[in-house]
Amino acid sequence: MARTLDGKAVAAEVRSEVAAEVAELKERGILVRLDVGLVGEDPASATYVRMKQRDCAEVGIESEVHRFPANAPQKELAALVERLNQDPAVSGFFIQLPLPEGLDPLPLVSAIDPSKDVDGLSPLSAGRLAVGLPSLLPCTPHGVVRLLKRSGIELAGKEAVVIGRSNLVGKPLAQLLLSENATVTICHSRTENLPEVARRAEILAVAAGRREMVGAEYVREGAVVVDVGIHSKEGGGLVGDVRFEEVEPKASWITPVPGGVGPMTRAMLLYNAVQAARTAKDAGAE
Ligand code: NAD
Repeated sequence: MARTLDGKAVAAEVRSEVAAEVAELKERGILVRLDVGLVGEDPASATYVRMKQRDCAEVGIESEVHRFPANAPQKELAALVERLNQDPAVSGFFIQLPLPEGLDPLPLVSAIDPSKDVDGLSPLSAGRLAVGLPSLLPCTPHGVVRLLKRSGIELAGKEAVVIGRSNLVGKPLAQLLLSENATVTICHSRTENLPEVARRAEILAVAAGRREMVGAEYVREGAVVVDVGIHSKEGGGLVGDVRFEEVEPKASWITPVPGGVGPMTRAMLLYNAVQAARTAKDAGAE
């Protein structure tokens, strides 16, 4: 039987470390503040933003939501990015994605000052990660690696297979595993013989966004399986990209859905806000 990669527990640890750091910074007169731009009325986005605000409040991070109607002109959002870049009271910020139709996220995300880019998704942040410079790391892949390491899983020298090559998850996760000295294969929708390639993995990370796609035939005996996927189940609840019941007996470790990668993603956003505040303080002290 596989051991559980308990994202809920590790995320709680990260949150309490963040809370201690926020308190320490506050004592030195530095407030950590994480702002968000929310455009339109998409209920899922509104829920995510509410959850992130609740997380901030729990660890003592200030947070302000800048709301815009769905038909807001691109230049108003660009002006928000510029304003938040310049505002010394704002440690970090992000624009909640996806944006309503007609708005282009790329120029906005690209304009975010990398030292405030708490989502870690701007091309500059991605480039810094790729060449091994310090940067704020994208929350989901960073959360995955933190979960593996905190669970005592050795990554150096291991065969890792990542299914998915998105800029949000697959690519940065592969980069991070590489920087931990794993031997990394990236698979995607055009990969041939996917189950065979996946069976090479000692660490198998699945971020294909395909409901319960990965069954036992993708999994090497004793592999560590990380399921990034999130899909709502008919009648309530969540499932991932992995058929848990079928894969769990073959794996040595596995993330549950929910309670695996999701809570880690949320915790790493808070972690990034503190990193951003520290960077700003250090830059100011020079
Ligand atoms: P995406 O749709 O942008 O990318 C999916 C990737 O998987 C693509 O690179 C594609 O090539 C690959 N893919 C698609 N079908 C495939 C197939 N049949 N075989 C092999 N590869 C295939 O998705 P994303 O934004 O990377 O998100 C992936 C999943 O992770 C989604 O379910 C998303 O909801 C979830 N997600 C979860 C969290 C979290 O906190 N747990 C965070 C972000 C995303």
